[in-house]
Amino acid sequence: MYPHLAKDKNCTGCLACYDVCNHNAIKIITKNSHQHVRVDINACRECGLCEKSCPIITPIRKNEFEAMKVYGGWANDEQTRIDAASGGGFAGLAQSFFHLHKEDKVAVIGAALVNNRVYHKLIEHEKDITLLTNSKYIQSYTQGIYKEVSKKLKNGYWILFSGCPCQIAGLYGYLGKKRDCERLITIEVVCHGIASHEALDLHLEYYKSSHIYRFRDKRKGTQDWKFSQCTTIEQNGKEVKLKRKDDIFYSIYAGWMLDRKSCSNCQFSEINRVADITLADFWGLPVPDYYKQGVSLIIANNSKANSLIKNADSIYTFEDSLRTAIDGNPHLFTGYKFIQYHPIVIWPNFFRKVLSKKLRFNILTNKMPYKLFWAFYKLATIYLTKYRKQQTIKKLQEKAPNLLKIINRGGVKWPIPKLQKIHEYENRNNHHL
Ligand SMILES: Cc1cc2nc3c(=O)[nH]c(=O)nc-3n(C[C@H](O)[C@H](O)[C@H](O)COP(=O)(O)OP(=O)(O)OC[C@H]3O[C@@H](n4cnc5c(N)ncnc54)[C@H](O)[C@@H]3O)c2cc1C
Repeated sequence: MYPHLAKDKNCTGCLACYDVCNHNAIKIITKNSHQHVRVDINACRECGLCEKSCPIITPIRKNEFEAMKVYGGWANDEQTRIDAASGGGFAGLAQSFFHLHKEDKVAVIGAALVNNRVYHKLIEHEKDITLLTNSKYIQSYTQGIYKEVSKKLKNGYWILFSGCPCQIAGLYGYLGKKRDCERLITIEVVCHGIASHEALDLHLEYYKSSHIYRFRDKRKGTQDWKFSQCTTIEQNGKEVKLKRKDDIFYSIYAGWMLDRKSCSNCQFSEINRVADITLADFWGLPVPDYYKQGVSLIIANNSKANSLIKNADSIYTFEDSLRTAIDGNPHLFTGYKFIQYHPIVIWPNFFRKVLSKKLRFNILTNKMPYKLFWAFYKLATIYLTKYRKQQTIKKLQEKAPNLLKIINRGGVKWPIPKLQKIHEYENRNNHHL
């Protein structure tokens, strides 16, 4: 029996099946600018490993939400915080991971931007963390990375692996029982959906730009989405930060029409999280000053993760409520989007052929009047999200009401460490407000 892998509409492109196959029988193809897999039946030995490693075909174990501990926080080092998409939670944790295991062999894995494409990369030195810092909103290529992690684990390394939730699921699928190794910690980013590289190519073509420097840039501003969620690209040999309203990439990204199909029905965007640690932008905090240089939402999904966060020497953390996190971040509990029923998403190749380049571009970038049609899908998604939120809160009220308690921050005068004073907090890590 030849293996049955996930259908293209459900396949997340994690590529665990590609790494696990010892017979070179899994081939990667590009479909609609996303990576997909096909089985080469002549090479296949029917061992079934690819089916076992696929987290869609063989669901993986998730964390119990009852164990969650919710924190807000940021990297102690100012530059690290500024360079990151939100508070630099990832880089701060990675730095701490190197410090905690300085006597051992350590590897940190995450997504790196190279020549307008994103690749999962393994680093072994603290100074290289910057290669993995900041969000890149196109899908990263993961082929080979799970194999490398498995080898490093075998060789006694401490591993901090980061990526989208589906990539963490892919790693767990690949590792099987070895996922429980105490030397492995995983970090997932809460994910809005992942765009194909075509979204970036259209953007660069529009601006006649040779490359992108950053997908999010708050070097001269704040985490506020209007300011930070815009790209910095090369234009006429200079580094130019676009305004959000002019940013073609974000018009496409926010419209979801070039996302992977599986992202419209994500099985990993739910309150039972996949990874040990979940990171996101901590939207919804009632103190706007906090966002000046960024705040990360940092959730420990189990005791192993909580122990890393508590012992981390390079991040400042404060405890907060899951309710605030849920209110500000729908992708923490749902990934369903009605955009999957938009004609241009259902029949991408047909529309690529029949529409002029300009018309397709206007639809994908949500120009008027096409935006009105798109709005039906958006509104339906908003209503479903509201319903899913009620369901999630009901579940939490029944099983873990403590997590919903709103933290009493003493009115608006919540003590805010000013950016220049952050270092004073370094030695007071885990001091809760
Ligand atoms: C595709 C995508 C969608 C996201 N959607 C949301 C959202 O809807 N709501 C929200 O609150 N936050 C979202 N985030 C997370 C957010 O952008 C920040 O990454 C998060 O707040 C952590 O920020 P930080 O400052 O701690 O770390 P940063 O330094 O900003 O983030 C670096 C981390 O992101 C990982 N990463 C970066 N690009 C990719 C990629 N292409 N694929 C896999 N991993 C990647 C790196 O491996 C590293 O772990 C998304 C991130 C990505 C990559």
